[in-house]
Amino acid sequence: MNIAISGAGIGGLTAALCLLKSGYKVSLLEQANQLSEVGAGVQCGANALHVLKHLGLEQQVLASAVQPEAVLFRDFKSGQILHQLTLGDEYQQQFGAPYLHVYRADLQRILLTALGEFDAQTLLLNTQVVKVEQSNSSVTVSARDGRTFEADCLIAADGIRSAVRSQMFPSAKPVYSGYQAWRIMVPTHRLPEGWMETVTANFVGPGKHCVVYYVRNRELVNMVGVVEAEHQPAKDDWISKAPKSALLEDFADWHPTVTKLIEAVDEDQCYRWSLNHLPPLSKWGQGRIALLGDAAHAALPFMAAGAAMAMEDARVLDRCLQGTSDIESALNQYQRNRIKRTKTIQNDSARLGKLYHLGSPFMRRAAFAGLRIMGQQKQDFLPSYNANQVALI
Ligand SMILES: Cc1cc2nc3c(=O)[nH]c(=O)nc-3n(C[C@H](O)[C@H](O)[C@H](O)COP(=O)(O)OP(=O)(O)OC[C@H]3O[C@@H](n4cnc5c(N)ncnc54)[C@H](O)[C@@H]3O)c2cc1C
Repeated sequence: MNIAISGAGIGGLTAALCLLKSGYKVSLLEQANQLSEVGAGVQCGANALHVLKHLGLEQQVLASAVQPEAVLFRDFKSGQILHQLTLGDEYQQQFGAPYLHVYRADLQRILLTALGEFDAQTLLLNTQVVKVEQSNSSVTVSARDGRTFEADCLIAADGIRSAVRSQMFPSAKPVYSGYQAWRIMVPTHRLPEGWMETVTANFVGPGKHCVVYYVRNRELVNMVGVVEAEHQPAKDDWISKAPKSALLEDFADWHPTVTKLIEAVDEDQCYRWSLNHLPPLSKWGQGRIALLGDAAHAALPFMAAGAAMAMEDARVLDRCLQGTSDIESALNQYQRNRIKRTKTIQNDSARLGKLYHLGSPFMRRAAFAGLRIMGQQKQDFLPSYNANQVALI
């Protein structure tokens, strides 16, 4: 079977690796002329690690990752702990794999190197997919420069602004959430000794929250600060910069863990972009074409699960295709097995944003007490999923 994938993000790369490992011929079509490394952090729970383990990449990721002891939800000003989730060894024993903070560029490099080792011809850069057509027996993918590619099926892993999704489902469009995110990365040596424990710290306050954690063997600290803004700027993306003074202003009266971190960042290394999400779709494909990752189910990042969901998609897709020549049924099975879980994450992520940003201290404490009571079942939902073993329906 000959499979085309559009988009070499974390979803497309993982899908390509899973499918190559299963013996398929894969063409991974990526619009960029090189895969640039975004210096950001990504949290990978046990569910993501199971997929990496299947690909034989778990140890490589572990080598540069940081294993936090807990997730701490803290009051934005006092730092008081409102809620906490234990990670570390306890988590690893329960879910069969650790919880990691990974430097996104490291993860991308590991996936890309593995792809090159499998088959250096798989990745086709400078290949922007602009049109797809299908018959009963194949898919024809057209690139902007006029080249065409024939495949037995197409997996569209081309992100939240998926061109393939726009062609199949024109009314399914990303929506501006009313949130904007700051992103900074600071070398740890610039921070005072004992500045922060090895945890995921989520400071929550009125109309804002701020997630802070170490990556790359604790050499770097990643911060994502989310603020509310009614209007979306005309142009913004992951690499749009904004003045440090505006970031300092947004978090001026916050806990010193946050303010000291912002003070330590380089003036020209503050990024700010709008958070968009996709309303849950009822269909992820047609015939021999299926969506994967953010193209299918882009969520707000508040559950830190988007990359992990794309990896889960990739492995489940691979399992659905195995041992069958009936591609349409396999893609339907893939959708059937993934759509409910990812919809839950899309909806829960949007709800969490509201909870994190509650205005009154009383409401905030009450909401986090509620989260504690809601308890383990909800918290286990993400890491307890093993895409290598989950029973397929
Ligand atoms: C602030 C923030 C923090 C996050 N933190 C986490 C976290 O801690 N943990 C986590 O699991 N997730 C996190 N996420 C979510 C995660 O980053 C995404 O969900 C994930 O990267 C989606 O991967 P993807 O491969 O589906 O899409 P993308 O990463 O968007 O990749 C799409 C690829 O397709 C290419 N492409 C686009 N159009 C075309 C075309 N027409 N033809 C060919 N190629 C094309 C693009 O160039 C790109 O390479 C976070 C997201 C944000 C915004």
